[in-house]
Amino acid sequence: MNILVTGGAGYIGSITTAELIQAGHEVIVFDNLYQGHAEAVHPQAIFVEGDLADRDAVKRLFDEHPYIDGIMHFASYTLVGESMQKPLLYLRDNLTNAANLLEQAIAHGVKRFILSSTANLFDDPERMPIDENERIVPGSPYGESKFFIERMLHWFERLYGLRYACLRYFNACGNTPDRGEDHDPETHLIPLVLQVALEQRPHITIYGNDYPTPDGTCVRDYIHVIDLARAHILAMEALDRLGSRKYNLGNGRGFSVLEVIETARRVTGHPIPSVIGPRRPGDPATLIASSETIRRELGWQPRFANIEDIMRSAWEWHQSHPHGYKA
Ligand code: UDP
Repeated sequence: MNILVTGGAGYIGSITTAELIQAGHEVIVFDNLYQGHAEAVHPQAIFVEGDLADRDAVKRLFDEHPYIDGIMHFASYTLVGESMQKPLLYLRDNLTNAANLLEQAIAHGVKRFILSSTANLFDDPERMPIDENERIVPGSPYGESKFFIERMLHWFERLYGLRYACLRYFNACGNTPDRGEDHDPETHLIPLVLQVALEQRPHITIYGNDYPTPDGTCVRDYIHVIDLARAHILAMEALDRLGSRKYNLGNGRGFSVLEVIETARRVTGHPIPSVIGPRRPGDPATLIASSETIRRELGWQPRFANIEDIMRSAWEWHQSHPHGYKA
C-alpha cells in the first residue's frame, strides 16, 4: 500500500515508517520538523516537509501524491504536562491539524486512517487493566484532543465511509539501532533516566511519591516502539476486513517510577541518583492496558514483553547516540 505517515520524522512515526518499508509498503512522510528529525526519515520514504496547520500545503501534498491508500497520523503535540500549561496547542492546534488532514483525505477518496491515540483517555478507570469498554475521562487537554479526533473519525466514518483504527498507546519507549527517542526538551521518564546514566543530568526527579500505588509512585505500562509500529501495520492491513476499531496497546503489566529507575540501574550499572519532587499535573496514578482485543483480533503479540529488554534497547541507542540525532 501507499501510506502517508504524518509525523514520520518523529520518534514513533519514523520507526513505524522503517517497519512499513521493511514490510514492502511505500511511504510518504509529511513532517514540519518541529519535533522530528530529517535524519530519522527512512531513506526510501518520500519526504515532504510541511505543516498540517497550512491547509494549502496539505492540499498540495494530496494533489501531488494522488495514490494514497491509507494514512497513519502521528503528527501532534503529545505531552500531558505541556497540555496543562498550554491547552490551546492541544485543543486548537491538534484538532485543527487533524481536521485539515481529514478534509483532504476525504476530498481525495482515502478510506483508511490510523490514529495515534492515548491512554490519557482513561484518567479515572473503573477497572484495571483498562480495556476498550472503559469509560472515557480524558486526563488533560492532550487526552481531550485525542478523544475529539476519535469522535471526528466516528463522524467521518458515518458520513464518508472512512475506516479507522484508534490505537491508544500506553507508555511508548525503547529504540531500534538506527532510530530512537530524541525530544527537546526531553520530558519522558526512560530517556531522562538514561541521560542521568550518561552523566548528562545529575539526578532524576520523581514526580510524586504519595500516589495510591504500592510504592507511592505512578504505575505505567511500558510498550516497545517496535511493538507499537507492528500494531499500526496489522491494524492498517486489517481495516478492510474488520472495519473500524479501537485498541488499547500495552504489555498488560505495570511498573512504578521507582521500578523503572531500579531497572535502569541494573541495565546501566550506574547508581542513577533520584530526588522526590511534587506531582506533575495531569498524571493519573496507575495506567495498565488490557490488549486482549488486538491480540485476539489481529494476532498481535509484543516481542518486548519484558521491561529489562525494553530498557536495554533504549540504553543501546542512548549510548550510541548520546546527543540524539545531532552527531
Ligand atoms: N516521571 C517522573 N519524572 C520524570 C518524568 C516522568 O517521575 O522526570 C513519571 C511521570 O510522572 C509518569 C511516568 O514517569 O508517572 C511516565 O511519564 P512519561 O512522561 O515518561 O510518560 P507519560 O506517562 O506522561 O505518557
